[in-house]
Amino acid sequence: MRFSGWQVIKQGLTGNKGWKPQWRKPEPKPEYDIIIIGGGGHGLSTAYYLAKEHGLTNIAVLEKGYLGGGNIGRNTTVVRADYSQPGNSEFYSYSLKLWETLENELNYNIMHSQRGTYRLFHSDGQRDGFARVGNAMINQGDDAILFGRDELRKRLPYLDFGNTRFPIFGALYHPRGGTARHDAVAWGYARGADQRGVDLIENCEVTGIDIENGAVCGVQTTRGAIRAKKLGIVVAGRSSQVAAMAGMRLPIESHILQAFVTEGLKPVIDTVISFGMGHFYISQSDKGGLVFGGDLDYYPSYAQRGNLPRAEHVAEAAMALMPMIGKAKLLRSWGGIMDMTPDGSPIIDKTHIDGLFLNAGWCYGGFKAVPGSGFSFAHLLATGNHHAPAAKYRLNRFNAGDLIDEEGTGSQHNLH
Ligand SMILES: Cc1cc2nc3c(=O)[nH]c(=O)nc-3n(C[C@H](O)[C@H](O)[C@H](O)COP(=O)(O)OP(=O)(O)OC[C@H]3O[C@@H](n4cnc5c(N)ncnc54)[C@H](O)[C@@H]3O)c2cc1C
Repeated sequence: MRFSGWQVIKQGLTGNKGWKPQWRKPEPKPEYDIIIIGGGGHGLSTAYYLAKEHGLTNIAVLEKGYLGGGNIGRNTTVVRADYSQPGNSEFYSYSLKLWETLENELNYNIMHSQRGTYRLFHSDGQRDGFARVGNAMINQGDDAILFGRDELRKRLPYLDFGNTRFPIFGALYHPRGGTARHDAVAWGYARGADQRGVDLIENCEVTGIDIENGAVCGVQTTRGAIRAKKLGIVVAGRSSQVAAMAGMRLPIESHILQAFVTEGLKPVIDTVISFGMGHFYISQSDKGGLVFGGDLDYYPSYAQRGNLPRAEHVAEAAMALMPMIGKAKLLRSWGGIMDMTPDGSPIIDKTHIDGLFLNAGWCYGGFKAVPGSGFSFAHLLATGNHHAPAAKYRLNRFNAGDLIDEEGTGSQHNLH
């Protein structure tokens, strides 16, 4: 069924009894051409583009829990293309272009809202750095505007411009940045892949990778062995554990990232704002909750929930930037496992094992990458060649020293 305004009216008038499940629940087959491990945003978009762009449909996505239960459903939904380093710049620019047509492409309301993103700067040096980033964005064909303090005060009057410790000098504005409904992105790709014949198999944990003579031949799962000559590892915060099943040690450390949401409030923030003097960023959801987050918990962990010192740090940054937030009641907080690479940039590559491909290391910026990553990884899996926008995301760059170090601070970015 195609979704449309007409369907909403028709179903509304007939008791909403005509909606169908959005994907099948197939039993795993003994063999597939390609197996994707991980039913998050990246795994589902990879499967979708394999079917749509390359006509490959004998594919299974194996998900240990339920579709969309990982980081795709835990992030703070910011989508932007404000990167400056060669490698990231062309990739995120490409991904943003896919976002802009994604609702029509998937026939799904993913609530993509280009409400703009502001990165605040608080010193002359920081302004120079952000001006460079803005120029790189414009060179890449994207949009960037540098606002001074007076213009910014008109646009975001609720920020604390009188703060003497962290004075706001201005902001780098990215009008095409914004947010999208995160789990709807997973559902939209899942439905599109399923409609094209891809088997989405939930409650199916991969527990082993079968390799013979240096080539992949299948996987062991909690629902039995499944054969395949091509395997894509797309498991976000579990990349090290799953790659270890193939005897690989990845240049990745896993840390927890937390996020927070307040009770629903009347509209106050119609954009996305990142503080430049601490680890804090904020937007407002369409339901009215203020959605915000900070930095990593900074010790390796698979706990999927965060610690209190980081919560306190985030609250302090929030109060420094926007004191009125002290009146809002916090509704929930949660955490997700972030696979951090040494340079903070991801990996989309083949491995030394024939037929084994890796999509990993998205750190805390992988939601905005979902369309571009799926498109590029599908291209690599289907053709064996790197897709141009993602061609620099090689695994051996950490041996070769060819890093894509976006902020010159390794994996310690403060933007999400
Ligand atoms: C609090 C927080 C805020 C964030 N904010 C942003 C943001 O604003 N903007 C942004 O761009 N990014 C953000 N991110 C990062 C983004 O969410 C991730 O980079 C991205 O979602 C990771 O890719 P994924 O969607 O494929 O991951 P996931 O949804 O985690 O998918 C991986 C899947 O693999 C499955 N899996 C793991 N092991 C196995 C196995 N052995 N067998 C089978 N299945 C397995 C997991 O169950 C999971 O469903 C944030 C993350 C967090 C936690």
